[in-house]
Amino acid sequence: MLKVDLHCHSNVSDGVLAPAPLAAYARKGGVEVWALTDHDEVGGIASARAAAGEQGMRFVPGVEISVTWANQTVHLVGLQIDADDPALLAGLAKTRQGRDARGREIAAQLEEAGIPGAYEGALHFVGNPDLLSRTHFARYLVECGKCATTADVFRRFLTEGKPGYVPHRWAALSEAMAWIRGAGGIPVIAHPGRYKLSQTAEDALFDEFRQLGGNAIEVVTGSHTPDQYATYAEVARRYGFLASRGTDFHAPGEARVEFDALPPLPAGVTPVWHDWF
Ligand code: AMP
Ligand code: MN
Ligand code: MN
Ligand code: MN
Repeated sequence: MLKVDLHCHSNVSDGVLAPAPLAAYARKGGVEVWALTDHDEVGGIASARAAAGEQGMRFVPGVEISVTWANQTVHLVGLQIDADDPALLAGLAKTRQGRDARGREIAAQLEEAGIPGAYEGALHFVGNPDLLSRTHFARYLVECGKCATTADVFRRFLTEGKPGYVPHRWAALSEAMAWIRGAGGIPVIAHPGRYKLSQTAEDALFDEFRQLGGNAIEVVTGSHTPDQYATYAEVARRYGFLASRGTDFHAPGEARVEFDALPPLPAGVTPVWHDWF
């Protein structure tokens, strides 16, 4: 079976490896078909494509768009996008806009909690304030010795009810769907098991996604537990959705699952890549 990994981050967003070493790392983990899906940015795609070619991997241009749906953050992966599409580029630029101001608010809250210098410390990991993410703050909190690991950070900081949590309004689901579809891409609901939605709300998300032309969800992802692989395989069968698979890799050592450790899709689902090759 082809080893396909369709969710992964470079240092263009909140990963740590540049696209070329990331491609080499994915290949070393056995990946044969690889997508780069940076958060709200496609600036790594040209070098990722070239590096994938050198590694002998098939390349899939992608993006992971931050969406606000029913006052919750939901991530939408777009696969096989035209990364030069003007409306997609404009939409992503708009989506990135609030990150700098949010980062300053996050830093102000952390300062109140006795952790100074977090804005500069987080920015150091990414350079571009428009791409500043909670992951960069998490790395700073590890670097300055406040937490042992980034997983520990997200238990104690940066999440709802904890210091450094600043709610944010991202793109609307309908907008992000239109940008991806307009760029010839396939929208995929990322890690559906990670959202804190009631069963009713989750069904409403899938129904709305389908009405907007969506027909794929992630089933096997580093952000799901093995139980959730089965749960979302069943959801895919029930809704007639195609199934996607990807590590959601960010950094060696930080990964919930490495490239060579992610299981294949369960039987009985149709892979999102079934008609690509
Ligand atoms: P942001 O888009 O700035 O809100 O940052 C979201 C990113 O933070 C995600 O893409 C993950 O990389 C990371 N993240 C969020 N929650 C967690 C968590 N509980 N554990 C590890 N990483 C997380
Ligand atoms: Mn991330
Ligand atoms: Mn995500
Ligand atoms: Mn991701």
